[in-house]
Amino acid sequence: LWDKIHELELGTGPKYPPVKFLSEKDRKRILITGGAGFVGSHLADKLMMDGYEVTVVDNFFTGRRRNVDHWLGHGNFELINHDVVEPLFIEVDQIYHLASPASPPNYMYNPIKTLKTNTIGTLNMLGLAKRVGARLLFASTSEVYGDPEQHPQPESYWGNVNPIGPRACYDEGKRVAETMCYAYQKQEGVDVRVARIFNTFGPRMHMDDGRVVSNFILQALQGQPLTVYGSGSHTRSFQYVSDLVNGLVALMNSNVSSPVNLGNPEEHSIMEFATIIRDLVGSKSRIANLPEVPDDPQRRNPAIEKAERLLGWRPVVPLHEGLNRTIAYFRRELQLQADEYRP
Ligand code: NAD
Ligand code: UDP
Ligand code: UDP
Repeated sequence: LWDKIHELELGTGPKYPPVKFLSEKDRKRILITGGAGFVGSHLADKLMMDGYEVTVVDNFFTGRRRNVDHWLGHGNFELINHDVVEPLFIEVDQIYHLASPASPPNYMYNPIKTLKTNTIGTLNMLGLAKRVGARLLFASTSEVYGDPEQHPQPESYWGNVNPIGPRACYDEGKRVAETMCYAYQKQEGVDVRVARIFNTFGPRMHMDDGRVVSNFILQALQGQPLTVYGSGSHTRSFQYVSDLVNGLVALMNSNVSSPVNLGNPEEHSIMEFATIIRDLVGSKSRIANLPEVPDDPQRRNPAIEKAERLLGWRPVVPLHEGLNRTIAYFRRELQLQADEYRP
């Protein structure tokens, strides 16, 4: 798919990526909130290519029109500029509710808006799901586990979140959104799915949104020091975006309504990530230790037995392969920017 989109951008391929034909009765109408963002746009690609009618709703806070540009004008595709904090009245069969800033600098930029998006925004999407009888999948996060005291983290773990810390607007917003999903399920019979997504990377990540993979790749490509916050001994487990998208679709179409972790259990320290990325880029950047950030979770690792058992899902893209694809994307973006600004 990625090559197809590249061809489109170069104007050398057909007008749209290939779309499977589905009869009108099988062609579900699917809403993706936050569909112009990193994960949402890859999900839109998959659902479009599988032949569904896809409506993307996005307020472009962190998303970009360019992420879904290749579908504009297609008969199965619609893009609506709308903020989910405001009610939305449309007719759909399934809702993937992804709208929310995801990177720590983005969600801390306006914590009140982050809270409104995850609470009022989720309430509105649940109200919509209730009115039209749609199934709703909520994009929750491993951050509901906070700075976990249990490793790896199973879905049964209740978490360790500081309710008044700098990350609380996001963590508590996502936690109450999960509570709302189950309240609507119990009280109103809304069919819900909850994906607890662990750190994800891939092409179309924002280059400058401050997440670790994008920072390290950019820094390595530009010969700048790789900024490790603290000693670099804390860990994360990263999954490639296509694995996540397959997991989201499998979960949506399953009968599992309790929360499911979606992540890659391969865990590395941040220092290891720095050296892996620097080596893959072939860069001579040095590694610089900066001060630690407050409330930074020390370890994060998904227990994915539930997804394996109930969805038959597990991540398949090796870390190095995913990183190479992401590095190629960032290289190209930097080249495009350089071309744009050349006098
Ligand atoms: P992203 O920032 O690229 O995408 C989020 C999208 O939501 C953007 O297009 C943004 O413009 C849109 N949005 C934000 N507030 C909105 C509002 N009020 N109304 C309408 N649209 C709004 O982030 P992403 O990485 O693609 O994350 C997508 C979802 O997955 C988020 O809900 C995030 O919390 C969740 N998630 C992501 C990760 C990850 O590592 N990427 C990990 C855990 C959870
Ligand atoms: N809502 C929406 N679209 C709809 C139906 C409802 O955005 O198609 C919003 C509605 O404005 C309300 C929220 O969803 O703020 C919750 O709806 P619900 O019907 O549960 O609550 P009520 O409107 O009865 O307070
Ligand atoms: N991090 C880092 N250098 C950076 C950006 C992030 O050392 O330039 C660390 C950060 O402190 C955290 C981890 O990398 O421990 C992952 O950060 P990210 O913001 O990508 O996601 P998080 O899992 O914290 O939401």
